[in-house]
Amino acid sequence: MPEGAYLYCDVSLPVPIDQAFTYSLPETLRHRVKPGSRVWVPFGQRKLTGVVLQCHDERPAVAAREALRLIDAEPVLGPDLLALGRWIAGYYCAPLGEVLRGMLPLAAEIRRGKVWSLTDAGRDAARQLLLDSAPDDPVAQVLRMLEKRPLSAAYLAKALPLADKVVRSLERKGFIAAEQVQTERDPLKAPAERLRVELSGKEPGDIKLNKAERELRAFLELHPGSHNLKDLEAMVRNASPAARALGRKGLVKLAAETLTMTVGPIRARHTLNNTQQAAFELIADSIRAARFQTFLLHGVTGSGKTEVYLNAIEATLEEGRSALLLVPEIALTPAVAGQFFARFGDRVAILHSAFTDVERSEQWRRIRSGAARVVVGTRSGVFAPVQNLGLIVVDEEHDGSYKQEETPRYNGRDVAIVRAQAANACVVLGSATPSLESRYNAEKGKYTLLELPGRIEERPMPSVELIDMRQEFLETRKQATFSRKLLEAIGQRLENGEQTIVLLNRRGFSSFVACRACGERIQCINCSLTLTYHKRDRRLLCHYCGYAEKVPSCCPKCVSEHIYFLGLGSERVEEELHQAFPTARIARLDRDTVTGKRQYETILQDFREGNYDLLVGTQMIAKGHDIPNVTLVGVVSADVGLGMPDFRAAERTFQLLTQVAGRAGRGSVPGIVLVQTINPDHYAVRLAAAQDYAAFYDKELHFRRMMHYPPFSAMANVLVRSEKQEMAMRMSSELGVLLTPPPEKLRVMGPAEAPVPRLKAEYRYQFLVKAASRKALNELLQCVRAFAFRNKWPATALVIDVDPLTLM
Ligand code: ADP
Ligand code: ZN
Ligand code: ZN
Repeated sequence: MPEGAYLYCDVSLPVPIDQAFTYSLPETLRHRVKPGSRVWVPFGQRKLTGVVLQCHDERPAVAAREALRLIDAEPVLGPDLLALGRWIAGYYCAPLGEVLRGMLPLAAEIRRGKVWSLTDAGRDAARQLLLDSAPDDPVAQVLRMLEKRPLSAAYLAKALPLADKVVRSLERKGFIAAEQVQTERDPLKAPAERLRVELSGKEPGDIKLNKAERELRAFLELHPGSHNLKDLEAMVRNASPAARALGRKGLVKLAAETLTMTVGPIRARHTLNNTQQAAFELIADSIRAARFQTFLLHGVTGSGKTEVYLNAIEATLEEGRSALLLVPEIALTPAVAGQFFARFGDRVAILHSAFTDVERSEQWRRIRSGAARVVVGTRSGVFAPVQNLGLIVVDEEHDGSYKQEETPRYNGRDVAIVRAQAANACVVLGSATPSLESRYNAEKGKYTLLELPGRIEERPMPSVELIDMRQEFLETRKQATFSRKLLEAIGQRLENGEQTIVLLNRRGFSSFVACRACGERIQCINCSLTLTYHKRDRRLLCHYCGYAEKVPSCCPKCVSEHIYFLGLGSERVEEELHQAFPTARIARLDRDTVTGKRQYETILQDFREGNYDLLVGTQMIAKGHDIPNVTLVGVVSADVGLGMPDFRAAERTFQLLTQVAGRAGRGSVPGIVLVQTINPDHYAVRLAAAQDYAAFYDKELHFRRMMHYPPFSAMANVLVRSEKQEMAMRMSSELGVLLTPPPEKLRVMGPAEAPVPRLKAEYRYQFLVKAASRKALNELLQCVRAFAFRNKWPATALVIDVDPLTLM
């Protein structure tokens, strides 16, 4: 047998079973299948795509079925990423197959844009076959066509009615192989904001043009060069259809814009100030030494962390290595991307979950080939196939969106550190409000702490004032949404032409609908949660499962007509602001107004450009934006998150308030922040107002230590769920028996009803496990999984969440 050819391969499949499956390799695949390649294999009655873990010649005990097809000519996961996948599967107690599937952005591309070409074996065979066979033999025809050049599956199918079948058999024989190539999308179909238009140079001659087409041509003649079509729409009537029509006639050139051009304003490059420089030098030393080291860059809002990242990335490139920057889901805006393009040009690749599969796989390929050496991505960007990794930056490292809330429940920040360690790369975790865990790690010397204690150019931190809404009520005798002080401050901003951000971290209009007669609160039929009233949609909505119903005219329980709405959401805040300031231009940013990423960017961009006076929204508006004209931030209620049955409620409130306060006064005019609350004495609220991270950290750490919460324990949430309540109860009590008494070094609380006992039509019971040792925790969880497997629990019945961020 030739070198590197094997009889079998072990394949990890996306099924909730913890084992690899052995398949035999047909002769044609033996030397082509490698670890990290995807293969298509039979599994039960189905056919699945899996990732090859290893190839070998060891005959398995039971006869192996044959692998059907190799999907990638080159492995999609290198040894480093395969190892990372294994680590995730072990640490987060998740099936490896599901982990690996989640690491690949290319799930959808198997059928897309495939181009066939002859393999070496195919070339030999073609020569022979073409001599022997009749000219109209379909196999010979396909081979002959492919001998000249690689062809797309679609092209072959059009040319030959039987091509599909022939191609499959040739592939099985190993005579042809597919390359995945990027199919050029028809630019005529791209949306206006992604199209650039310019005159083609061709003269219309006798070609008939309608009015819009003539106008557009005239405009382009007056303004030579290429223009964004969306911008043209603002200047020329019907520019979009006209441009497309002219494009079809060959009179203009239309090109789909690459991401490089859809970026926001580009900030000037700054010379680092002293503290930035000091932080940068320590990071750069570590990069130059190719040493694994984790830095925590703790810099207040507006301290210029981004500039430090940019310089660190530059230093990485100078060393001939690549850099990865992770940002929270919502923070990856054109404004952020713009700075990276400005600095690093086409060496940048952007990975974002809102991109289409085609866009993502295109970026993925550029990274893999080494063409893109600076990668900016959200959580799953941590799996980008970056070559020769030298630096990973995790911006806003405390952000909850780094944690995936479905299997595998990994935290991208923590995975980044593990990946960097294996690559001898450097990690920079940046935040104005580091998570307790990270700051604690810095304290313990595990991370190196770098501090940027002041804002750029000695701009003052915004001054924060708490407004006690209980006092306000006593004085005004009114249950008002806005205090007098906040209204007055907004009015002043409107007069001065300055901008205001108003935060209420709860969407919808009213958060409850209740009956005055019987006290009933209307609940979701699938979840033990109340429904939220959405006025614009005239619906009651469940924010957890998406269930919607019409607003009832009477109580579903007692048929009383006296139903009322209570609790405040961002939709109502917007409406009340319109009433209070009828001429103000107000935009709202929350999950109801933003359905796509581009919409989010449009609203923010419009606000940045001064097209709105006020921006109302949920936590979406608190993240990272740098809008100099914002001089007032109002928080309608600081109390929204405090009542959550979750040990991180205080930390999350502190972070949100500090972050949103940090949006004020980033320009030359100082900013103020008004925070309305009925808990002015709560330490999270009080210390956020004082912008005193250190004091908050001490107090919170003390609480965590007392309660054995992270960082003083390794924690996991084990959830047992079923649509049938008896079943959920039975499973949880069985598990309760297994876990009593808990092994040494472990505390187990439960089984108990989960804080949300019923969610998405499932009944839920939970165990909280706290461990003094990470190893003991992992052993216990593996044992729980084995138990569920032995007892044939349904695959979805057991959820294990290691290092959970929420306990709902
Ligand atoms: P952070 O992320 O720490 O909140 P940013 O990185 O957004 O802060 O920086 C805040 C502002 O300061 C930005 O407008 C940035 O361009 C500017 N800036 C950063 N570094 C410098 C510097 N050394 N000199 C002048 N301006 C700077
Ligand atoms: Zn009632
Ligand atoms: Zn629901």
